[in-house]
Amino acid sequence: MTPLPYRVRSRRPVRADTVSLTLAPVEGACPPFLPGQFTMIYARGVGEIPVSISGWARSGGYQQTIRAVGAVSRALCHARRGDLVGLRGPYGTAWDVPGAAGMDVIVAAGGLGLAALRPVVRELAARRSRYGRVSLIVGTRTPMTLLYPRELDAWRRAGIDVQVIVDHPDHAWEGPVGMVTALVGRIVFEPRRTAAYVCGPEVMMRAIAADLVRRGVSPARVAMSLERNMKCGVGRCGHCQLGPLLLCLDGPVVTYDRAAALLSVSEL
Ligand SMILES: Cc1cc2nc3c(=O)[nH]c(=O)nc-3n(C[C@H](O)[C@H](O)[C@H](O)COP(=O)(O)OP(=O)(O)OC[C@H]3O[C@@H](n4cnc5c(N)ncnc54)[C@H](O)[C@@H]3O)c2cc1C
Repeated sequence: MTPLPYRVRSRRPVRADTVSLTLAPVEGACPPFLPGQFTMIYARGVGEIPVSISGWARSGGYQQTIRAVGAVSRALCHARRGDLVGLRGPYGTAWDVPGAAGMDVIVAAGGLGLAALRPVVRELAARRSRYGRVSLIVGTRTPMTLLYPRELDAWRRAGIDVQVIVDHPDHAWEGPVGMVTALVGRIVFEPRRTAAYVCGPEVMMRAIAADLVRRGVSPARVAMSLERNMKCGVGRCGHCQLGPLLLCLDGPVVTYDRAAALLSVSEL
């Protein structure tokens, strides 16, 4: 439970309220992570929050993308290069990317959900020939709030069908407008041999999962990240209990066959 000291090696604003931090270990490092896992990040004197790991840093540390919504996330977003934070983890379940070898793969991200899915897409791009058709659909509020735009282009070049939809276009936007759910009908996949990874607001995950299942994808092959409020990260406090699951241990990545009934339970 004791956080390890990590130093902010770089801080990159990715949109108005969101930054990507590269965190490097100072003495002793957390072990390697699997795509989908999260760390508990401690902002000194403020508190600790769960944040998905969005990538490896060459320094051996983690990249994490954080949106300022309250006291702790704001403190972390305001951290400067050289500042110390505390890190525990990695915790939680992972996206089963190797298990999708030979299959079509759909990655669906809403807003900040792309941060948790970035390691998945990187893995798919790096080993592109192992998979069938790979589609990434992304929904974002405006073109300006789109995460990792340069990487989206690199993933396109790697053979991934990347489609982006925005809620509110600006004058330069020429792409589709609406909800990310509208993009499911535009991608090509063979339902019986498709794996899907979905992360975003719960309402979006529920709609995408239900649509994929309706089109013939097995609910056991649709995985989603249930990012309910967590406190301890190690299954002690019960804060993230959802039905029979303690999401910090049994999640955040849960397949739709288990998650479907739980998604109707509102958070405390
Ligand atoms: C497994 C997991 C992975 C996460 N990954 C990321 C990430 O990559 N980047 C990121 O910015 N955030 C992520 N979050 C959400 C992040 O943990 C919360 O934004 C943070 O705990 C808010 O704490 P705070 O003290 O800043 O604000 P608080 O004052 O605690 O909360 C501010 C507002 O945010 C809402 N909120 C708190 N926690 C959540 C949550 N889990 N989901 C939705 N709304 C919440 C509160 O209800 C409140 O309205 C993740 C959460 C989980 C459980």
